[in-house]
Amino acid sequence: MLGLGAVGPELGQALSRMGIAVTGFDALDRVGGLEDPAINELAIELLGRDMALHLGATAEIEEDGECLPVAANGKSASVDKLLVCVGRTSNLDRLKVERLGVALDQDGMPPFDRETVQVADLPICIAGDVDGERPVLHEASHEGRVAGYNAVHEPSTPFRRRAPLAIAFTDPNICVVGETWDNLKDRDVVVGEAGFDSGRAMIMLREDGFLRFYADGATGGLLGAAMIAPQGEHIAHLLAWSIQKGMTVFDLLEMPFYHPVIEETLQAALTDAAGKMETCTDQPAGLAST
Ligand SMILES: Cc1cc2nc3c(=O)[nH]c(=O)nc-3n(C[C@H](O)[C@H](O)[C@H](O)COP(=O)(O)OP(=O)(O)OC[C@H]3O[C@@H](n4cnc5c(N)ncnc54)[C@H](O)[C@@H]3O)c2cc1C
Repeated sequence: MLGLGAVGPELGQALSRMGIAVTGFDALDRVGGLEDPAINELAIELLGRDMALHLGATAEIEEDGECLPVAANGKSASVDKLLVCVGRTSNLDRLKVERLGVALDQDGMPPFDRETVQVADLPICIAGDVDGERPVLHEASHEGRVAGYNAVHEPSTPFRRRAPLAIAFTDPNICVVGETWDNLKDRDVVVGEAGFDSGRAMIMLREDGFLRFYADGATGGLLGAAMIAPQGEHIAHLLAWSIQKGMTVFDLLEMPFYHPVIEETLQAALTDAAGKMETCTDQPAGLAST
């Protein structure tokens, strides 16, 4: 498995569980697009149960008769098949965009507005993976709707972007929501974190996982999250919707959390963050006076 972004771990794990010996290589020290070091470390440990992982060195491939030797920084594997999951490049260059009369960036991309998807001040919209922004289906669909609207309206209307949401369907799911750790780590953020040792995860024998979210240190406003989590896809949606609605740690703590459900880990992480924040009220977090 060459490339351990989203697709590499998904397919590698699936193949491994079908009984195929899998070795994964990636030039980065990260898997699943994770920037959060604690979640990344756990993800490497959990994925490592299904496949050998060689990270942090560019892999090189040689053809050697029947086998394909793959090597990266002294680690090697001789494989029968190689699945290359290293992303896709747009074919925009074949559309002769250099003739548009606008300066292209180093990737050959013309300037465009993320909220109107209009290219410069031209009667052209750009939507979907081709713009290199967020290459996932719901974002492509959103941009397509904006493009369709603005194609028949003048002037172009800006439409608010959705909170970023990325899910790798590994087991457990790897999810990244909102602003990422690399953007936030030097800001005043409080990290709320919790493991999946709640009653429901124990009942399901699904205790492997960890959730970390980041909130503004002054207001408790939710900014982003990363997790490797059982049913993480659902918790990631809850957090993405909360971020997009501008909710805080304290807003979410006022919400009901049933027992026993996986979401109790989110409640534990919210309680953790609230405890780390300096509040100017002695009212207990999660209780709203009427
Ligand atoms: C292996 C894989 C797994 C994925 N898994 C997920 C997932 O789980 N969740 C998710 O949200 N997203 C996933 N994605 C991403 C998702 O598929 C894309 O975000 C989505 O398809 C983007 O839609 P699009 O219309 O922009 O591009 P595409 O679906 O790629 O469609 C572009 C179309 O344009 C055509 N085309 C290109 N150039 C020209 C031209 N010059 N003239 C005419 N036609 C042209 C192409 O043939 C193609 O049919 C995955 C992608 C891959 C490759």
